[in-house]
Amino acid sequence: MAQFSPEDRLARLRGPVAPQAYTARKITALTANPSCARRAVLDAAGVDKDKLVARVGFDARFGQSPFAISRGNAFEDLVKADGYAAMFTLLRQALDVPVHEAGVADLNTVGTTADLKIRAAETRHLLGRVAEGSDERLILDHPILTLQVAGQTAYLEPDAVTHRIGDRFYIAEIKSFSAIDGQADPGKVAEAAKQAAVYVIALRQTLAALGLDATAAAAAVAYEFLLICPKDFSNQPYGSLVDLRQKLDAIEFQLGRLSRADDLAALLPADATFDLSLDDDGKPACTSDDLARALDYLDPAYSPACLDFCELAQYCRDQATAACEPARLGTSVRNELPGIDSTRTALKLIDVALDPDPTQTEIVDRLRAADRLRTRRIAGVA
Ligand code: SF4
Repeated sequence: MAQFSPEDRLARLRGPVAPQAYTARKITALTANPSCARRAVLDAAGVDKDKLVARVGFDARFGQSPFAISRGNAFEDLVKADGYAAMFTLLRQALDVPVHEAGVADLNTVGTTADLKIRAAETRHLLGRVAEGSDERLILDHPILTLQVAGQTAYLEPDAVTHRIGDRFYIAEIKSFSAIDGQADPGKVAEAAKQAAVYVIALRQTLAALGLDATAAAAAVAYEFLLICPKDFSNQPYGSLVDLRQKLDAIEFQLGRLSRADDLAALLPADATFDLSLDDDGKPACTSDDLARALDYLDPAYSPACLDFCELAQYCRDQATAACEPARLGTSVRNELPGIDSTRTALKLIDVALDPDPTQTEIVDRLRAADRLRTRRIAGVA
């Protein structure tokens, strides 16, 4: 059988379509469920999960509305107008430093190219200059930071990395949700903070790649990020520092738990494919059955929390429901039923229609005791 390099194997799985890049949102989703091989391989291969799930007959139900995207872009343009003037003001207010003379390096492109690897190299070059003090008042607009995720290099794009303030770089993120009387929606702030934590870890790794040891790289990046959003019901920028320490610890821990996506991909049969390309007549290269079969080769780890972050959640929930997996009732139920693969099996064990194997004895005793208690309660016996 032909042997392919890990990158080739992942690219062959995706087929002849452009890969979707890792984003901070994808990484926070991956780290929310690190035991899911299905998502790990699809993200590493750069498969468009929205299109994939639609091809197998489900709705992704994610993504911002076009209105929200254009509102967000307009607000970001406002913050960046006149050489990031609004952001300088907010930095001055939040960190009490004179930053009016800082310059801005626009890293949306390098020359005429938007190639991520070239932008990442230019980002490293400029970070090195700022870190060594030869260009110390430079704000990086849309730099590209690198992070190792499941054995792959992710290229990540925060809105901005500030110059060093008190010896520390700060991540700045511009969001379009409002802060009313200084309070933004806590769920949206938490989501922004998770993404900012990914950027902080990536910035530390990028600085480590410049030769800083791990301790110095961690110390060189602030554990707070500057959240910039519209104030009240206006478009006036409002900024506040958000502490990331808890999120940093959690995401770093979960990143360490991710399996290598190329190892997982290498276990797939040669005919597995997630090719979403169309031929010259607009006909799909692969049938929906081919795609569903390939998905089924990859072990999911479904729990109801997946509905909050994963495009494949409805597909995986449908499978978990059909198989009566305890996980469809939540991770706590799954954890309470170790070694029992379905709620159907659990009910048979309770009803003595099935004998427990030695590893299930303890949990079955507990289930039967809970069932007796429930029956007594229903019967009104104290
Ligand atoms: S929905 Fe499915 S693919 Fe997505 S994280 Fe959950 S189990 Fe994995």
